[in-house]
Amino acid sequence: MSGEHLDHADIVIVGAGPAGLSAAVRLRRRGLGRVVVLDREPSAGGIPRHCGHYPFGVREFGRLMKGPAYARRNVAYTRAAGVEVITGATVTALGEGPVLTLSMADGVRSISASRVLLSTGVRETSRAQRMIGGTKPAGVISTGALQGLVHLQSLRPFCRPVVLGTELVSFSALMTCRHLGIRPVAMIEPNGMTTARAPAGIFPRLLGIPLLLGTQIEEIRGRDRVEAVVVRRRSGSTQTIEADGVIVSGQFRPEAALLKNSHLRIDPGTGGPQVDQYGRCSDPNYFAAGNMLHPVETAGWCWREGQAVADAIADSLEGRIPLPEGALRLAIEPDPLKYVVPQVIVPGEGTAPLGRLQIRLSKPARGRLVLTAANGDTTMLDRVDNRPERRIIVPIKRLKAVDAGEARIAIEEGR
Ligand SMILES: Cc1cc2nc3c(=O)[nH]c(=O)nc-3n(C[C@H](O)[C@H](O)[C@H](O)COP(=O)(O)OP(=O)(O)OC[C@H]3O[C@@H](n4cnc5c(N)ncnc54)[C@H](O)[C@@H]3O)c2cc1C
Repeated sequence: MSGEHLDHADIVIVGAGPAGLSAAVRLRRRGLGRVVVLDREPSAGGIPRHCGHYPFGVREFGRLMKGPAYARRNVAYTRAAGVEVITGATVTALGEGPVLTLSMADGVRSISASRVLLSTGVRETSRAQRMIGGTKPAGVISTGALQGLVHLQSLRPFCRPVVLGTELVSFSALMTCRHLGIRPVAMIEPNGMTTARAPAGIFPRLLGIPLLLGTQIEEIRGRDRVEAVVVRRRSGSTQTIEADGVIVSGQFRPEAALLKNSHLRIDPGTGGPQVDQYGRCSDPNYFAAGNMLHPVETAGWCWREGQAVADAIADSLEGRIPLPEGALRLAIEPDPLKYVVPQVIVPGEGTAPLGRLQIRLSKPARGRLVLTAANGDTTMLDRVDNRPERRIIVPIKRLKAVDAGEARIAIEEGR
């Protein structure tokens, strides 16, 4: 490693979104001396900085706020608590120790810590990752990029885009468009129903935007800019929609580039770090909180989780959380299960920040959610009748009788 050493901090937090900032304040209140938050952006606050709409902040601050005001308030609270918030600092490597390498405008630095909290959030799945065919014109962007252009740079990237996806964030994209007088020409959903709960589907219709369910984008056309989008219906028929942009929204995945080259174990289900119920990673000096653990939850959820994991970090420094030994490791039967968080359950009493299993599906399923232990014993965890992107919550105390080793969670469908 080269470059100047930024010295040692008690805690270094990577990511100044709601999770990282709330954790930082909590750690200072728990008596930690030097708490440093690093963020690659020029300003702290995370995703809410560019969510120029309600509703943020009700549970955290007792006030209904738009995202940018909420982000500013989070940052002000953090600085007032005596936390060092360093922006323009991209963490590029996570090392044992722990020691982090970061890239700043004036060069490469490193910083060591007693504990590191990772809270780098999520990103949407890009056009390339979804393998959408056609030409490669400008004007195909994610909701996050759209919001950044509109709210942070006051730009208007297109006038008549197609919106791909019907998750909550896709409706957030519609609101962002409305803010600038951009009129989407269609909202497209490959499944037969909207991913966001009813009555979300009414919203585009109220705005006069056709909602095309059971429809795929087959091809994007255009030379320099998007000129048209070819869609295919379930019936097999195709339609060409004239448009000057495409908003590729949702299908969140953790911002996990840092993990890929690190020594930390990655969970194949979430794509984020593997953690136990304390938010502790496979290297016990590293913890994680916020959306990088579970793509995707609201800002309020991540904020509260940041605080709770901060308590576990402070407890770990005082030797008050159980050592990661004799653990139960959870694996899932993929399709229809997508992920479970936490993936490791350490035996012991006490409150844990991730004290409930959060489970998601990759496709709709109905049946019995069953855990099969290494010795073949089965425990029914819940009955489910659920769709993708909707959380299933199971208290981990239901796993108490299960011995250490690997256990599998599966859905016995239709029972
Ligand atoms: C486009 C979009 C719109 C959304 N709209 C809403 C909404 O309206 N309401 C809502 O409740 N939730 C919304 N969400 C979900 C939102 O992500 C969470 O609500 C919340 O911001 C998550 O907090 P977090 O702290 O986990 O992560 P984030 O807020 O994502 O913060 C992560 C931070 O980590 C930083 N970072 C990442 N990698 C590095 C690195 N290597 N080095 C340094 N810094 C790094 C990023 O710059 C970022 O500031 C939206 C998400 C997206 C992507």
